[in-house]
Amino acid sequence: MTFNNVSMTYPRLTPLMAPWVTSLISQQELLDQAFQQYGSPLNIHHTPAFADNYQSYVAVLQHHELRHQIFFARKANKCKAFVKEAQRIGCGIDTASYRELQQCLDLSFEVDQLVLTAAIKSEKVVRLAVSHQILIVVDNLDECILVNRIAQELRMSARVGVRVSGFHSGGQQLYSRFGFSLDQAMELIIHQIGPDRMFEALRFTGFHFHLNGYSWQERGTALIEVIQCIDALRERDIMTEFIDVGGGFLVNYLAYKEEWHTFIETLQCAVRGQHVPITFLNTGLGFEMIHGQLHGHLQTYPYYNELPREQFLEAMLSYQNSQGEAVASLLRTRDIALRLEPGRSLVDQAGTTLAKVAFRKHDSQNNLLIGLEMNRTQMTSSSADFLIDPLLISSTVDTRSSEPTVGFLVGAYCLEQDILLKRAVVLPRIPAIGDIVCFPNTAGYMMHFFESEAHLFDLATNLVLIHSEDTQVPLQLIEDM
Ligand SMILES: *Cc1c(COP(=O)(O)O)cnc(C)c1O
Repeated sequence: MTFNNVSMTYPRLTPLMAPWVTSLISQQELLDQAFQQYGSPLNIHHTPAFADNYQSYVAVLQHHELRHQIFFARKANKCKAFVKEAQRIGCGIDTASYRELQQCLDLSFEVDQLVLTAAIKSEKVVRLAVSHQILIVVDNLDECILVNRIAQELRMSARVGVRVSGFHSGGQQLYSRFGFSLDQAMELIIHQIGPDRMFEALRFTGFHFHLNGYSWQERGTALIEVIQCIDALRERDIMTEFIDVGGGFLVNYLAYKEEWHTFIETLQCAVRGQHVPITFLNTGLGFEMIHGQLHGHLQTYPYYNELPREQFLEAMLSYQNSQGEAVASLLRTRDIALRLEPGRSLVDQAGTTLAKVAFRKHDSQNNLLIGLEMNRTQMTSSSADFLIDPLLISSTVDTRSSEPTVGFLVGAYCLEQDILLKRAVVLPRIPAIGDIVCFPNTAGYMMHFFESEAHLFDLATNLVLIHSEDTQVPLQLIEDM
């Protein structure tokens, strides 16, 4: 196919590129050295992006004159570099396991900059949290019993936040497996927590929720429902310090709206059989044909969206109750602190994954397959596909063979499903062995959330890019430690 054919047939999804990634991938020698030393793939991180994202949230919260605290949800990326950067800039950490919490304590984090939200809380992690007086977000009565018992054993009290769910939106109740219903939470806080009660060692401090999905309206509604509970508690002289709204702040990955819409339309056509497949074996990523009709919806992250990060927060704070009062002013007049736990959005544009090309071949359907030295678990989230175009970096560009081409990137696990991107990717030419494929913006979940050591492959090395203000000083890559 000619270039025009390829690019017209296969929709592009041009990524937003951070300038640091653009300059990194022009440093062929630095990259070659890093691959030689650490193997493929490489995860490369850049902490100033984290600090910028943090500041963008702080600016909105300050503008609304809200008391606030931001906790980085570590589960989005395991690197210590971000924890250290958080500590340096005054950002807290949301921890979800013993090791996540212990590492933060080892780095001498201030205890009121930490929160434990783990979905399953072992006795060991509860003991660690209570003994250091770390706020624990409780999810159910069995956890309250456990935390209370350990606090009594340690002759201490335990500060707890109460996780709630089951909010109402669009005439429906939002399902969650997490948390107490608001009614259960009120019963717990009013009748079961505190001196001379069942949970006498617990101290109620605030409410917590973390909603699935990416609706600022649902978060606005949830805040309003929680504020009503806080008002009812205040009438009983029970004070609430904060509401923690969890994470889920959107990230925008893509440069162009039109490309996103064209992609979705083309995918639908392909699934209907009216266009050549643009995904591996014509997988629908959520769309499917049933009795000749197209059903379903795209089951991926909304990679293109127009209210990312601080704009999402701004929208949530402007959400109004039925009297026309905005969430921001409801919080401010009651002096309730707002807490956020962003994960993905704090590491937006703060990491990239690079892998070496190992082989090229054609499969029995004449698809070009490009084998990369990495496996699917090293770039996977819960989304059905990672919908952005990778970049090809070649050391030796032979312009004569520079014919745009389309193919699938495949990985090292001996599974038919070890396809790195389900979408067919357009590359400027057939890659050479040893070329590098760069996946931009992978720090949030893509690198670490599902990585495994099957086949005894080593986990990818995590490197941190260091550059000084002085442009004469060369870029440096150091191990994350
Ligand atoms: C996953 C999670 C977060 C972070 O969510 P993001 O979508 O990465 O912002 C925050 N809080 C809790 C309790 C979580 O489970």
